[in-house]
Amino acid sequence: MESALTARDRVGVQDFVLLENYTSEAAFIENLRKRFKENLIYTYIGSVLVSVNPYRELEIYTKNHMERYRGVNFYEVSPHIYAVADNSYRSMRTERKDQCILISGESGAGKTEASKKILQYYAVTCPASEQVQTVKDRLLQSNPVLEAFGNAKTLRNDNSSRFGKYMDIQFDFKGAPVGGHIINYLLEKSRVVHQNHGERNFHIFYQLIEGGEEDLLRRLGLERNPQQYQYLVKGNCPKVSSINDRSDWKVVRKALTVIGFNEDEELLNIIASVLHLGNVQYGGEEGNASITSDTQIKYLARLLGVNGAVLTEALTHKKIIAKGEELMSPLNLEQASSARDALSKAVYGRTFTWLVNKINQMLYIGASVTAVGLHVYIGIGTLSEEFYHPVFEQFCINYCNEKLQQLFIELTLKSEQEEYESEGITWEPVQYFNNKIICDLVEEKFKGIISILDEECLRPGDASDFTFLEKLEDTVGGHPHFVTHKLADGKTRKVMGRDEFRLLHYAGEVNYNVNGFLDKNNDLLFRNLKEVMCMSENKILTQCFDREELSDKKRPETAATQFKASLAKLMEILMSKEPSYIRCIKPNDSKQSGRFDEVLIRHQVKYLGLMENLRVRRAGFAYRRRYEVFLQRYKSLCPDTWPNWQGKLADGVAILVKHLGYKPEEYKLGRSKIFIRFPKTLFATEDALET
Ligand code: ATP
Ligand code: MG
Repeated sequence: MESALTARDRVGVQDFVLLENYTSEAAFIENLRKRFKENLIYTYIGSVLVSVNPYRELEIYTKNHMERYRGVNFYEVSPHIYAVADNSYRSMRTERKDQCILISGESGAGKTEASKKILQYYAVTCPASEQVQTVKDRLLQSNPVLEAFGNAKTLRNDNSSRFGKYMDIQFDFKGAPVGGHIINYLLEKSRVVHQNHGERNFHIFYQLIEGGEEDLLRRLGLERNPQQYQYLVKGNCPKVSSINDRSDWKVVRKALTVIGFNEDEELLNIIASVLHLGNVQYGGEEGNASITSDTQIKYLARLLGVNGAVLTEALTHKKIIAKGEELMSPLNLEQASSARDALSKAVYGRTFTWLVNKINQMLYIGASVTAVGLHVYIGIGTLSEEFYHPVFEQFCINYCNEKLQQLFIELTLKSEQEEYESEGITWEPVQYFNNKIICDLVEEKFKGIISILDEECLRPGDASDFTFLEKLEDTVGGHPHFVTHKLADGKTRKVMGRDEFRLLHYAGEVNYNVNGFLDKNNDLLFRNLKEVMCMSENKILTQCFDREELSDKKRPETAATQFKASLAKLMEILMSKEPSYIRCIKPNDSKQSGRFDEVLIRHQVKYLGLMENLRVRRAGFAYRRRYEVFLQRYKSLCPDTWPNWQGKLADGVAILVKHLGYKPEEYKLGRSKIFIRFPKTLFATEDALET
């Protein structure tokens, strides 16, 4: 039999806190590599789970595996996502405290797959009655629907989630899932009208075109050819080998039925309308756009339930109010195209939000119960030249990551400290970088970046992306985490463009090009387009475009401010829960199994803050176990505790470690746990078991 020592050499340690050289990034990565080579994709840092995407189906998600992790303590079995799911579930039931599981990592790292695995685990292992089964089904089926409307093929991931999601699963006192709630934010709406080379629009468009029944397509006025649609040809990538749009269409249709939808017709009308909108072409003189063919308008009028003539006017004119009088001012070609695209984005974006609300209605139970929340968010992204990134969105996402990092630090340190206190062990303070300074730079009232951006968006006259950048320089120019091309002595920093600013995030530097910031933040839809939509007879759109929006003289909130508010709400929710963390890592950029790209991985280890995390976790003691677990495992090593220790657990452990020759500085005995400072002490004990 292989000894524990050689096994450790081969497959590494299953918890990074057991690394002898825990401050060494090389040792960290080496451990990850050893395990990855053995298909061991999960490793802990204390209670944080690190997961490396295997890019192949592993036989580790069977019902047997689920059973193995049910009701079992974290450390008794090998690391697994089911252990995290089960641990949260049990804490929720025994301590009656809400839990949340935060899943992070860069695009393609496996966050969505991880969240699905957790959901499946609950669906299979939690008790069920007939009514509960309906909830379970709806929870599970919400995934294909949201993925169809919110995911797309990108260069980095064939099924990339283009929105952030937080989902609560609510449990009754018996531990059965009885309801759920989903919060979505920051859908990448710009994808509806533009995709980069090699990327696609949201899946649903292709599913409808490839899978839709003949008579459905006829009714919608669509052809079975994605190349016909302007909004689908930009990326020149209608087909993806890993995706079967036709069978996915069936899955989505079924999911909509299971969830209990009865607005299918209206929903499909909207999807088709967006495609028709994209094909609206403008001609006419430069300053005076007109629509060249009325084919699309005819379909649009019917599908959106609006008046075709009014829509045509709204797509070519802008209503202005001068001296109390309403005037229609013609749009030029460029303005008209962007008005059309703004309408498509608004229609799609609002329909997506409606969809989430609808699913929530079908999952709503009302009563207050304990919950496990799943939050899937995107890792910090550095902007690279080769990829097209919507910069404004990336700015928002990185701000979100900054906030979540702050939460992580606060909660990890807090829970460490609380454990020491409850065990009666003196707390040894840990030094760490507090990123509050960066959060403030972005979100502070009056002088934060978002405030300055809003100010420029509201300022009439010559406000532009450049004046925004200038204002930033004036206001936060001296901030230690903010950089532009301007140097303090009036010279310029050559490596930076005149239209960008750089933020020094906790995870690294990111340059943001300000082009488009004002437009994106304003997210304006011309008033007359809003008016048309408010008159729509489509049952869904009447809920999406509220007439009150028109009467309201106040400006709608800007995109960044809305995002800031929804983030604040999310933080509040997360703060009230006990968190678990899953950190996902992508092993290579080519979606290949077995390839461990060290440079790429080192980068992720850095920006996921894993070394910092390990340092905090290891600052005091590498290992801690409840007395009964420790005694059970090692009692055979001491004649006084073997085979059945009759006295108090703490006394038994004290006798055991004395017999093993532990030195006083190597361990501490708390109220219910033993704390061991160095891994080598534990390894020696483990090895003694083998001999
Ligand atoms: P994005 O931020 O773009 O949404 P993501 O982190 O959600 O990315 P996923 O969609 O979960 O990434 O994963 C990308 C792909 O990697 C999956 O489609 C699947 O092929 C593969 N994958 C991820 N996790 C696993 C796993 N545990 N086992 C097998 N394959 C996996
Ligand atoms: Mg995803």
